[in-house]
Amino acid sequence: MADQQESIAIAPPANVHVARVATVKHYTDSLFAFTCERPASLRFRSGEFVMIGLMNGPKPLLRAYSIASPAWAEELAFYSIKVPAGPLTSQLQNIKPGDEVLVGKKPTGTLVLDALTPGKRLFLVSTGTGIAPFASLIRDPETYERYDEVILTHTCRTSPELVYGADIVDETLADPLVGEIAVGKLRHITSLTRDAHPLQGRITRLIEDGAFFAHFGAAPFNPAEDRIMICGSVGVLNDMKEIAEARGFVEGSNNEPGTFVVERAFAG
Ligand SMILES: Cc1cc2nc3c(=O)[nH]c(=O)nc-3n(C[C@H](O)[C@H](O)[C@H](O)COP(=O)(O)OP(=O)(O)OC[C@H]3O[C@@H](n4cnc5c(N)ncnc54)[C@H](O)[C@@H]3O)c2cc1C
Repeated sequence: MADQQESIAIAPPANVHVARVATVKHYTDSLFAFTCERPASLRFRSGEFVMIGLMNGPKPLLRAYSIASPAWAEELAFYSIKVPAGPLTSQLQNIKPGDEVLVGKKPTGTLVLDALTPGKRLFLVSTGTGIAPFASLIRDPETYERYDEVILTHTCRTSPELVYGADIVDETLADPLVGEIAVGKLRHITSLTRDAHPLQGRITRLIEDGAFFAHFGAAPFNPAEDRIMICGSVGVLNDMKEIAEARGFVEGSNNEPGTFVVERAFAG
């Protein structure tokens, strides 16, 4: 209790906002989602990440987090891992509505529509919490203005880990702002590496052997019309990058848009 009072009394640094937690939802022993108020001056593009965290004694403890809500939303949403001995998430997993979290003032990132040249199909390839930036992008009407089809893929180990993605897709389709334009354009394709599932295995293998495209009757990757965003572990990122480059895709950035972009879902 004394510690808590001490940390509340210490002012957070100037590079962060203090935001009040609105909702918290636990999905599994290792995954949860929460929303907090959006600081009035915080601007970001759908798909970007920001530093978030908690005061840890006199210092802030901050980590990079994808913003899982779209740029137009009044609240900020996040989807988080719980690492048992993780400096931040061992604490963050205990937050409750009304608690305060720190939100950095400079969102940034490469998983933004502007980092891609125009195309027809947009593939959003994610593993684990790497779905978070895409939870933002699939709820942005601009995504559907730019693409005829938006294919969100989510690969996890076990089926409970897919529930957050299913919830977000349901919310998107029911959303008064974006639902109508997303229906018929948004597809949600899931695969599992451990539990039994219609699409079984790593997304990279499923793409390479064609099972992924056969699953929903789609043509294979075509760099002339397709654009790809990738967010996952370093291993998945490297393998997907290799797959994309072997098929003629060129990595893009904010300064130089290309035909695919990548971002790590976590360091290490
Ligand atoms: C650009 C970027 C965006 C990120 N966005 C998110 C996000 O939206 N949601 C999120 O939960 N994390 C995200 N992370 C990871 C996040 O920054 C922290 O690493 C995570 O919150 C754990 O913090 P920690 O202090 O508890 O443990 P850390 O010391 O940071 O991590 C301990 C170990 O846990 C593992 N780990 C960390 N994060 C994850 C993860 N997300 N999935 C699986 N294993 C992990 C790694 O092996 C890591 O070495 C992002 C990281 C980067 C670089």
